Amino acid sequence: MKTTRRRFVKTAGVGAVGAALAPRLAFGGAPAVSTGRGYDVAVIGAGVFGSWIALQLQRSGRRVALIDGYGPANARSSSGGQTRVIRMGYGDKEIYSRWSLRSLDLWKELLVESARTVFFQKTGVLWMARGMDPLTVKTLKTLEQLDVPHERLGRPELVARWPQIDPGPITWAIHEPESGFMMAFHAVQATALRAEAMGAEYLAARIAPPAATGNRLDALATTRGDKVSAGSYIFACGPWLPRLFPELLGDRFFVTRQEVFYLGPPAGDERFQVGAMPVWADFGEQIYGLPDFKGRGFKIAPDRHGPPIDPDSHERVVTAESTARVLEYAARRFPALAGSPVVNSEVCQYTNTSNGDFLIDRHPEIENVWLVGGGSGHGFKHGPAIGEYVTARIDGGEVDPRFSLASKETVQSRAVY
Ligand SMILES: Cc1cc2nc3c(=O)[nH]c(=O)nc-3n(C[C@H](O)[C@H](O)[C@H](O)COP(=O)(O)OP(=O)(O)OC[C@H]3O[C@@H](n4cnc5c(N)ncnc54)[C@H](O)[C@@H]3O)c2cc1C
Repeated sequence: MKTTRRRFVKTAGVGAVGAALAPRLAFGGAPAVSTGRGYDVAVIGAGVFGSWIALQLQRSGRRVALIDGYGPANARSSSGGQTRVIRMGYGDKEIYSRWSLRSLDLWKELLVESARTVFFQKTGVLWMARGMDPLTVKTLKTLEQLDVPHERLGRPELVARWPQIDPGPITWAIHEPESGFMMAFHAVQATALRAEAMGAEYLAARIAPPAATGNRLDALATTRGDKVSAGSYIFACGPWLPRLFPELLGDRFFVTRQEVFYLGPPAGDERFQVGAMPVWADFGEQIYGLPDFKGRGFKIAPDRHGPPIDPDSHERVVTAESTARVLEYAARRFPALAGSPVVNSEVCQYTNTSNGDFLIDRHPEIENVWLVGGGSGHGFKHGPAIGEYVTARIDGGEVDPRFSLASKETVQSRAVY
């Protein structure tokens, strides 16, 4: 049995990528190609983290394999949703504001290189706050310190600018005009394609939990019995990481079910479309949303952590209870949407660390293995910065303690939003 090596660089356009992916991912009927060579680095997981790590490593001149069992930004992965918010505000967690700024530049470069500028929508992002909400107050200070373009809006300005919002208890807001959202799964596929165009090899395979001899890992085994060998191995497997490293991560990662709804505004009503509405977040109610893009629906997503989820087998169907809660919220905050139907939905998962800081660290016992994950519901935007960070450290170099395995607790206390 041979591992499938698939080149999708020759295909043009997103539709063609999807078409090229589909038959091979099923492991059936497609021609199989043996890799027959060692790599400098094997990256396991082609979500936003793994795809960007592979791209940056390949750009640095290394020979890279990017491996995924279901495909880049597949429907089970956390990177597989339609859209993801790109914002700079992070309370006083300045490192994430800096990474977000850096990442947006890299996203834009990639999208230009890939001729896919439509993937980033600069709609602006609106933080709606109540009173002296500490997260928003700290965010305002950080945006000022970092010179991030923003406006502080009082309630009258908020109502005047977006009369389709009924602010209720909201008293003020921050508007980031340069921020917006990314077309998520298209953008990840563009990243993986770019890595491949630069020389990385994409392998469609599921990797078995690694078995090291001593303090080094010699090779990966696929669940079909193939071997893939590399100098270093980076496991960027999102919610699957605890399965691959149960002893290390079984009680340090909290994989939660998250639901996303798309409401259909009334026919002819353009007030909820891109251009008329920014991305918005109402942290007081732990809910956020995106304007309707090309008629796909007005997105509303509760950010509160849901119950545990199995990323392989979970039926991704929203519940009646959450639907009712989201419709009630929509009718209250956006009165013209009262009675609007749910026209689409997604069920995804957050891979939460105890406080929301990412995990980017070497394996404590296997020196050539890295663990990268714990996106904690906010990781998408940072894919490019994570790729740079790992590339700069893979051959040595300190890791920031906030990303270390040692800093990950077994009890959740969310601090990064
Ligand atoms: C509903 C929702 C909304 C979100 N909103 C935002 C947002 O607005 N902004 C933002 O910045 N972030 C957001 N996030 C978070 C962000 O999407 C994630 O942090 C990010 O996608 C995580 O990417 P990842 O690469 O770590 O994991 P994934 O995307 O899950 O990728 C992991 C990959 O590893 C592969 N894999 C796993 N095990 C194996 C194996 N054994 N062998 C081979 N392959 C394997 C999987 O197939 C998968 O493709 C949101 C997340 C969700 C669920």
